[in-house]
Amino acid sequence: MRIVLLGPPGAGKGTVARLLSSGSGAVQISTGDILRGAVQAGTPLGREARGCMDRGELVPDNLIIGIMEERLRGPDCRKGFLLDGFPRTISQATALRELLGRLDITLDLAVNMVVPRDVILDRLTTRRTCSNPDCQEIFNLKTRPPAEGARCTECGAPVVQRDDETVDAISRRLEIYNEKSSPLVEFYAQEGLLFTTTSLTKEESLKDITEALGQAPRSTR
Ligand SMILES: [Zn+2]
Repeated sequence: MRIVLLGPPGAGKGTVARLLSSGSGAVQISTGDILRGAVQAGTPLGREARGCMDRGELVPDNLIIGIMEERLRGPDCRKGFLLDGFPRTISQATALRELLGRLDITLDLAVNMVVPRDVILDRLTTRRTCSNPDCQEIFNLKTRPPAEGARCTECGAPVVQRDDETVDAISRRLEIYNEKSSPLVEFYAQEGLLFTTTSLTKEESLKDITEALGQAPRSTR
């Protein structure tokens, strides 16, 4: 299973990737997690990335693509992978196509997750994240509230609203998505890999994608 997940922040790419990963052994590769790791490590690239994320902007290609190549070469990716949040631009998609060609890897599907703006805003502004770097458990004020006193149920650390999950930052991220990332839908349509789902629950999205994988001509499962 080798899938690219497309869709705006809050579309549920991470959730669906996690479910597909646990069912197949394919590795979930999230640009966000990789970048946050670099930010926390305080490397020069991490500091550079931090400035971008704090402003709700995209992180430069050269930074992300280097990290992505190292990851895809990992032996655990042989069973497959789910790219969650990458590529975000046409130039990244072109770089990814070139990289996969070199590694002799073929994609099965590019899944486009379409979710209305008001649903996204509601999902993301209610999200809270455990402030313990070794935990980072994710909560939601409506569907999965933290423990009393806004504490993590797993480790007891305070939960916080991330800087990029305020209403202003999300609005900016959606603008950037529409401008830079929505052309990816056409890119993967031309590659013959595009599958679109408009389902709003993880169960329905998962069912849609599993069915599409079964019908994908190059599918490995
Ligand atoms: Zn925690």
